[in-house]
Amino acid sequence: MKLKKRNKIIAGILTLIIIACTGGLNIYSDKDEVAMGQQFAEQIESDNKTYPDYNDPVLEKYIENNIFFPLLASPAIQKRGVYKYDLTLIANDTVLNAFAIPGGNVYLYTGLLKYLDSEAALAGVLGHEIAHAERRHATQRITRAYGLQFLVSIALGNNPSQTTEVVANLFSGLALLANSRSNEDESDEYSIKYMQATKYYPGGVKFFFEKMRDDGLVNSKGQGVGVFLSTHPDPIDRIKTTNERLKALKIPVKSWKSNDQDIYRDAYKNNILSRLK
Ligand SMILES: [Zn+2]
Repeated sequence: MKLKKRNKIIAGILTLIIIACTGGLNIYSDKDEVAMGQQFAEQIESDNKTYPDYNDPVLEKYIENNIFFPLLASPAIQKRGVYKYDLTLIANDTVLNAFAIPGGNVYLYTGLLKYLDSEAALAGVLGHEIAHAERRHATQRITRAYGLQFLVSIALGNNPSQTTEVVANLFSGLALLANSRSNEDESDEYSIKYMQATKYYPGGVKFFFEKMRDDGLVNSKGQGVGVFLSTHPDPIDRIKTTNERLKALKIPVKSWKSNDQDIYRDAYKNNILSRLK
């Protein structure tokens, strides 16, 4: 009884200490990240009903060579050669979404491809997704949610199997792909950084939200339709924040409707939209 009480006190103190310092803490290594990503990728590949592969190697190569890899060539990328960056197209025209899994695989729905209308807009979205992998947002969130429990149960000498089970459950349903508001904000910020190394206008990350706003698909409270927005809150705020960042970097603020050369509107029409079935 006495020992139990002491353990409880220790656990309480540990909890407070850990909560105080888990801001950017990540108990996973890059190797863990790649291994986890592999598991995710296998799960996605084996579920062709939920994630049907859009089989157009020419289109995939075009997007990789012209947009995806040039973003990854940015000096701001730190995990090049560590993570296995790869792009996969998913055949679902009703989903306006893209997502990244730990270790660098990025998935892009045909619904989003059809909705966007410039290469700068697509590059902005891909830069944002690459940032989720680069900045290790998924494992940061697992650390915050379960690392704490895990560390406390180790400190108490308990069997951590229950915690392990909880982490395993996270994999089913890809629940951990729901990013927090601060993750989204950081990814928007890094998208601009990665874009600066490319031929594209660096503010492309906001074009999707601007088009959604102008099409009446989001209201001033930031609510809208589609999976992309439910995992990417506050689109109106994000347009504003991106414009502020561009101004601070002395980059001209352009809208999604711009026809400037660095938007690559015709290239998108000719090389991407025209190929989509
Ligand atoms: Zn995101």
